Amino acid sequence: MFDSHVHAAPDVLPRIGDDATIAGAFETSGHTGFVLKAHYESTVGRAHAVATATGLDVFGGIALNQHVGGVNPTAVAAALGTGGRVVWMPTADAHTQRAAGLPALCLHEPRLGSHSYAIPPVDPSAAAAVDLVLDLIVEHDAVLATGHLSEAECRWLAARAGDKGVTRLLFTHPSYTVPGIQPAGVRHLARIGGHIEITAYQLLHQPQCTPALLARVAEAAGAKLVLSSDGGQPDSPMPPEAVTQLIDVLAGEGLDRGWLKAAAAEVPHELFAPA
Ligand SMILES: [Zn+2]
Repeated sequence: MFDSHVHAAPDVLPRIGDDATIAGAFETSGHTGFVLKAHYESTVGRAHAVATATGLDVFGGIALNQHVGGVNPTAVAAALGTGGRVVWMPTADAHTQRAAGLPALCLHEPRLGSHSYAIPPVDPSAAAAVDLVLDLIVEHDAVLATGHLSEAECRWLAARAGDKGVTRLLFTHPSYTVPGIQPAGVRHLARIGGHIEITAYQLLHQPQCTPALLARVAEAAGAKLVLSSDGGQPDSPMPPEAVTQLIDVLAGEGLDRGWLKAAAAEVPHELFAPA
């Protein structure tokens, strides 16, 4: 198995374990690797260190939040130039996150000022920066992940990414609270060419999220489905166990277990691993 969305300490929030502890859990569970994500730090160097120490395929990247001023091509060039595999559009500092009242670093540190970020069609002024980020992603054959952008932004971004030649596109947990896309909208996103993520975090922590809803989202994703943990919270199981729970729950809804396992293994590994 391969977990394409994992949080570890050190972080600005408490985490269930540090990089080495969580990597150890993935080694024990027989995973081939994982993607290390942080909302407020490039994980490229950390991922390299863990990969070297363990032999696992561990990939890092950068999320475009307030610590880099949002959609910042220089931060992307630095992350991808040092071996990063993924760029997440704004997550904790996306405008959707702020509107939903979900956590962000600046809420704990008022001296930072509160900034949130959007792309077209919500913020047309961001188009040039997004275009350069997309060019960099193409040049590095990296993964574009949509972060917490809204449905309209996801559609705009997917179309622009397609025009630019981006071939690795992951819609970050589209059915989570942010962006909150319904199964019919997820079906459209899968059809226009991106992978669709469902996370164990949704199952464990998302208000009003039911196994039946996640099963409908999985069916809408079809062959584009990616199952990940988005784990690392102190009140979640260790990430490998969280993904196993997600697979079991979706299988309990009548979905094919072999398909679900591929969505937590070969499918995300192929999406993230360099050609
Ligand atoms: Zn996450």
